[in-house]
Amino acid sequence: MRPLGLILIAAAVLVPIIWFAPLAATRDPVALFSQYLGSSALILMGINQFIATRSPGLETVFGGLDRIYVLHKWLAIVALAALGLHDIIDAEMDGLRGGPLAGIAEDVGEVSLYGLLILILASVITFIPYHLWKWTHRFIGAFFVLGAFHFFFIEKPFQNADPLGLYIAAFCILGMISYLWILVLRPMAPRGHGYVVDAVTRLGGVIEVTLTPKGRGLTHKAGQFAFLSIKGNGLSEEHPFTLSSAPGPARALRFSIKDLGDYTRRLGKHLGEGMQATVSGPYGHFTLPRSRDPQVWIGAGIGITPFLAFAESLKERETGPVKLYYCVRDTGDIPYVVDLEAIAEKVPNLELVVVNSAEGIRLSPDRVVADLGGNLPSAHVYFCGPTAMRKALKTGLVAKGLRASRFHYEEFEMRTGIGLGRLAAWLWDSGTYAIEKRRAGRVQPAE
Ligand SMILES: Cc1cc2nc3c(=O)[nH]c(=O)nc-3n(C[C@H](O)[C@H](O)[C@H](O)COP(=O)(O)OP(=O)(O)OC[C@H]3O[C@@H](n4cnc5c(N)ncnc54)[C@H](O)[C@@H]3O)c2cc1C
Repeated sequence: MRPLGLILIAAAVLVPIIWFAPLAATRDPVALFSQYLGSSALILMGINQFIATRSPGLETVFGGLDRIYVLHKWLAIVALAALGLHDIIDAEMDGLRGGPLAGIAEDVGEVSLYGLLILILASVITFIPYHLWKWTHRFIGAFFVLGAFHFFFIEKPFQNADPLGLYIAAFCILGMISYLWILVLRPMAPRGHGYVVDAVTRLGGVIEVTLTPKGRGLTHKAGQFAFLSIKGNGLSEEHPFTLSSAPGPARALRFSIKDLGDYTRRLGKHLGEGMQATVSGPYGHFTLPRSRDPQVWIGAGIGITPFLAFAESLKERETGPVKLYYCVRDTGDIPYVVDLEAIAEKVPNLELVVVNSAEGIRLSPDRVVADLGGNLPSAHVYFCGPTAMRKALKTGLVAKGLRASRFHYEEFEMRTGIGLGRLAAWLWDSGTYAIEKRRAGRVQPAE
């Protein structure tokens, strides 16, 4: 996440204090604070709707799109907390004249709060199936619009036309336009570049798709990703995949897709040569580094895809020594090992290490440190793979002297939870352990 984006968001929420603070001299400060919380929630939600538009320039301010989605989740949680407090702390104050819609605005505010509460909770409870969540998620904007209605018509110690009113209204309007764009306008005119499916190759559980541009095509950097949509056969839903080929003059693209769910399985069954595709992007800041420092690349399973593009690009780029760990579960299903070995033969500073957990070998921080031979503090580590593995490796490497800012990774999930699944599993394990312990205590060993 880029600090610039966070600073701008913090500033957007703090600016209204300029107008709220003088009001505290004549108004109930507790009620005023509650109104500030409600206003801050609207500002955050307006920004949040905007950052969900994938508009150009957002990545420059906030960081890669994968991180923007993480920010999107946390902004929603903070906004919900502010709304909850706004609801709990009485915002009513004496001497305010309400308009004809003030009563309705009060009720609409309640509906908005509970609607947002349910939908935001559904977003962070990741065991709710993705498609059900995605379908319900589109209504979040509708509850935001109700929140904006509440703001415009509720009794408050300032007018909508005052600087404070206009400031909050600007974020409400930004959010509403963004919502309209996402829900109605973007689906009517999908953005993206037209491509034709050139070849489809099945490599074990991975489908490799190569595409040739119909027009100019997109220009990407090694390691970036794009949203792929295929015309026909129920494959039009957009899904994010890494561009697993290095950028080339013909602007042909390759995706390497693991059949992990219903859409990717359908792709495996129905995708064929000559089909029309739309690719929108590129997105992401997980790109081939220019540094001459030693580099460690760790790709686990299908997380190898950005490193395929990185490795291909090394032919044209001089870098420091690179060690690529390709972590797999089964030597019988390593689709890209031959390609990577061929590249490593031609690029002297690339060393490929296959780590096969089926042989009882796991990549540990100790192994990385030992292989780096004392170069850990000057190294950059790039990781793509399961979250649990990333966290274990990062924690271990940072404890051994790697600066956290030198551990780079890409979120392979757009919908990241807040650890509720892990919390539920932990509660379940602790509960069953406690019950078993109590039972064992009751059963006396036979003499
Ligand atoms: C930045 C990024 C790069 C990726 N690169 C690759 C890659 O190179 N190769 C690869 O095989 N996979 C990649 N993925 C993962 C890939 O997007 C999912 O595996 C795929 O979308 C699963 O869809 P499904 O319907 O088959 O599976 P499901 O079982 O329906 O979904 C599995 C999970 O995939 C995500 N997902 C599903 N549908 C969508 C959607 N329309 N948009 C966004 N996320 C969705 C959800 O988190 C869901 O929980 C990448 C993901 C991201 C975020």
